[in-house]
Amino acid sequence: MDSLWLQNSTRIDSDQFTPGNTYDVVVAGAGITGLATAVMLAQAGSTVLVLEGRHVGAAATGNTTAKLSLLQGTVLSGLRSMYSIRQVHAYVDANRAAQEWLLGYLEGRGVPFQYRDAYTFATTAAGAEKLRTELEVSLAAGLQVEATRETGLPFDVENALRLPRQAQFNPMDVLRALAADVRAAGGSIVEGVRLMNVRAGNPLTVVTRRGDVRAGTVVLATGTPVLNRGLYFAKLRPNRSYAAALRLPDGVTPPPGMYLSAEPPTRSIRDFPAPGSEGPGGSLLLVGGFGHPGGRAPSPKAKLDQLVAWAQGHYPGAELTHTWSAQDYQAINLMPFFGKLPRGRGRILFGTGYNKWGMTNGVAAALDIVSDITGSPQNSWARTIHYRTTGPRGTSSAVSFNLDTQLQNVRDNAALKKKPEITEETTPAEGTGVTGLFHGKPAAVCTVDGVTCRLSAHCAHLGGILHWNDAEKSWDCPLHGSRYSASGKLLEGPATHNLLKLQ
Ligand SMILES: Cc1cc2nc3c(=O)[nH]c(=O)nc-3n(C[C@H](O)[C@H](O)[C@H](O)COP(=O)(O)OP(=O)(O)OC[C@H]3O[C@@H](n4cnc5c(N)ncnc54)[C@H](O)[C@@H]3O)c2cc1C
Repeated sequence: MDSLWLQNSTRIDSDQFTPGNTYDVVVAGAGITGLATAVMLAQAGSTVLVLEGRHVGAAATGNTTAKLSLLQGTVLSGLRSMYSIRQVHAYVDANRAAQEWLLGYLEGRGVPFQYRDAYTFATTAAGAEKLRTELEVSLAAGLQVEATRETGLPFDVENALRLPRQAQFNPMDVLRALAADVRAAGGSIVEGVRLMNVRAGNPLTVVTRRGDVRAGTVVLATGTPVLNRGLYFAKLRPNRSYAAALRLPDGVTPPPGMYLSAEPPTRSIRDFPAPGSEGPGGSLLLVGGFGHPGGRAPSPKAKLDQLVAWAQGHYPGAELTHTWSAQDYQAINLMPFFGKLPRGRGRILFGTGYNKWGMTNGVAAALDIVSDITGSPQNSWARTIHYRTTGPRGTSSAVSFNLDTQLQNVRDNAALKKKPEITEETTPAEGTGVTGLFHGKPAAVCTVDGVTCRLSAHCAHLGGILHWNDAEKSWDCPLHGSRYSASGKLLEGPATHNLLKLQ
């Protein structure tokens, strides 16, 4: 399922890949983190190559809901439960610096965006209680949010927080402008070439299936870091969620702000004034949410159906125009990671763990990575975030996450043995996939568009047992979020290889 943004965007051209070339910096990943980093470095005079395994915007950034907001649901109270108020303040400062950078960039480049008031709303007493804490923490962390019950939503709320004059945009407009500016400053962007490894040396060797290139510095802007240095896959929870665009009946307009619920299931709302459709009824309503840990929902399609039913329940007669889903990574200890990768000798940098707030956090990561590479003074928010210490709550949440991941693997392996055996004749119905043992080995078989594919059910990352995703028609790993197409091609996550075909 392609997002509204990707469906309405023409492809961004790829440059030629030239094995053997040497660059000051190779950036892996052409989402917001990678392209913001690349543009800043190229404009500062570095020679930059961006390697993108699929295409620009293929993963989270091309499928986001693209709110550029400092009001972020209940993120600040979550952070406060693990860190000092000084560290929460630094998180707000990082996001503010990133928002200012991106708004300045969009204004300067004439990329369309809309200012909107941001709201976090609660429809239950428990949600309202969470908002009282969020208000307290926000004010203490320097964010001037206000409590209100006037939201413009088509349903009553118990309570809401408002932060005026935040922004929203079409993320593919932003990536297109950044890509053009990387090239205008002498950089290159190559699609369809995946970074597979980085070998030590000076310069570093960047390994791809199309040959090697050399780089003074490598930036991993791959969503979750693809190299296992630092074991970040064990510190990040992949969260998948759903989105839909709807055309409202004549005379009905979307609510005037950008919204996020305080309580589960997460419900997110914004509008999209599609170009050429200004005037009454021209804007689309975008909704998102109903998320879950990647690879772990029994039926992702049921989650999408629940989201659409919720939207159409509040907007009767709304016509569905697009549906999609995407995944982002939440740091187990909630604070995003960015900067130097352990065991990278200061020459491999990365950014991840934005917890569905990457429009700001991805740019903040880019600002910090660029100051590290160019040797410009580090922002004080970055220093505070780098030297954070996690309290006991953070430690126990990391332990329980990894225990839970191991238990999931044990359960999945045990379940396989109880399933009907896979044979050469196993042919699942169109649009479905099954797992089981084939000659004693875990196998994943699915049929999509009339083609039956027989694959190993072992994730190419660490061997988790894959689950069928009935919304995306993909194989998803419940351990660390790697995903593969029906034919076994790697889509996203920490893996670097496709699935093995069954012999
Ligand atoms: C449903 C949803 C809604 C969201 N809404 C919002 C929102 O409203 N506001 C907000 O601030 N944030 C939001 N987010 C979060 C935000 O979209 C992400 O945090 C952000 O886009 C991450 O950007 P990124 O560049 O780090 O990663 P990505 O956009 O995922 O880019 C990583 C790129 O790296 C490529 N890649 C991976 N491995 C390799 C490799 N080995 N070699 C080369 N390339 C590779 C991938 O193909 C991909 O293109 C949302 C996320 C989701 C899932």
